[in-house]
Amino acid sequence: PTLAFKDVALQVLPHLLQAAKHQTKDTKETIILTATSGDTGTAALRGFRNVAGTRVIVFYPQHGISPIQEAQMRSQQGDNLHVVAVKGNFDQAQTTVKEIFNDPTLAAVLASHQQHFSSANSMNIGRLIPQITYYFSAYGQLLRQGVIQTGDQVNFAVPTGNFGDILAGYYAAKLGLPVGRLICASNKNNVLTDFFTTGTYDKRREFFVTNSPSMDILVSSNLERLLFDVSGGDAELVQQLMHELQDQGHYSLPTELLTKLKQLFATEYATPDEIQTEINRVFKEANYLIDPHTAVGSIAAHRYRTLSGDPRPCVVVATASPYKFPETVLQALDNTVPSQSTGLDAIEQLAQIDPRPLTAGVEELFTNQPQPVLTTTPAAMPRMVLDILKKTDK
Ligand SMILES: *Cc1c(COP(=O)(O)O)cnc(C)c1O
Repeated sequence: PTLAFKDVALQVLPHLLQAAKHQTKDTKETIILTATSGDTGTAALRGFRNVAGTRVIVFYPQHGISPIQEAQMRSQQGDNLHVVAVKGNFDQAQTTVKEIFNDPTLAAVLASHQQHFSSANSMNIGRLIPQITYYFSAYGQLLRQGVIQTGDQVNFAVPTGNFGDILAGYYAAKLGLPVGRLICASNKNNVLTDFFTTGTYDKRREFFVTNSPSMDILVSSNLERLLFDVSGGDAELVQQLMHELQDQGHYSLPTELLTKLKQLFATEYATPDEIQTEINRVFKEANYLIDPHTAVGSIAAHRYRTLSGDPRPCVVVATASPYKFPETVLQALDNTVPSQSTGLDAIEQLAQIDPRPLTAGVEELFTNQPQPVLTTTPAAMPRMVLDILKKTDK
């Protein structure tokens, strides 16, 4: 419904949450609080709309998301949904949301109203579990197409930001899916490429704003879960590494862990220019439109195969519809045109080029009626949360 892979898990998560609350006889109202750079907020609003016992408050940077993302976010309708534009950047919004989560005074106010906070970000394990199905589903499709026989190993190239999607691939392998290599594909913010190559994670580097914005991340939160698992559940080691990351900005893995990781993970990265070229190449050669994030996966898949000679079939995990980033895709297809149309105009132009019919999610963009949203500053976000909860209290 919102044109990115996060939709699948965010459709399931609200119902997992309800089932868990039912089982634990928890009758509190769940307040989902999310800072978003675009994708998560929209998909969370869609997944949680009108789910009983839940309310969603989404904060987005006023000038930090694409026109399409903003239109999508502002047109989600449901009595339990609240969207707030923040006069600041994504990091400020995210930092304040984390502060709100950790504020004992706010927690006490919520508790006195039979409410509690929860998260729709991928720190919530309910976001990761449903994603495991992608890998089994893809494997099943390859079997049906006769590309592989039962038991054959398959590689997956995964465009990676917070390490949630690729971690689901790791869990799929642990569940017995014959996975060869998981290729961790990064953009110019290639902190993970360096990590899987050298064993050192170092966030002390320049942050680049790229044309694959959903992967512009320097601290990849779910990597911690991978380290916990490959170390055999060594919580002490993982805690020490995470403290080093927080205090010194870097940490290095013990050699034997790096060796273990390299048996399953490979890694490549792509620059913005390479992404443009890849979107163009795939369209010319396969008559198929891909989005900029998927292009990173495609580049990584081809580069890995060339450099390693690994002959196993490789699935490129597509993470968004090209219609979510129509400006970048149009530019890539025709880089002789300097400045292109934006928003809905860009989508219309792309639709004329696309040999495939439009999906319902894209059609919906044309009928959306964006609503006015609340506006606040980072400092006033906690106040805003209380105001929203008070106003809508029954
Ligand atoms: C979220 C997102 C990613 C990164 O996925 P992670 O699970 O955070 O690694 C990649 N591409 C798109 C389009 C996304 O929305």
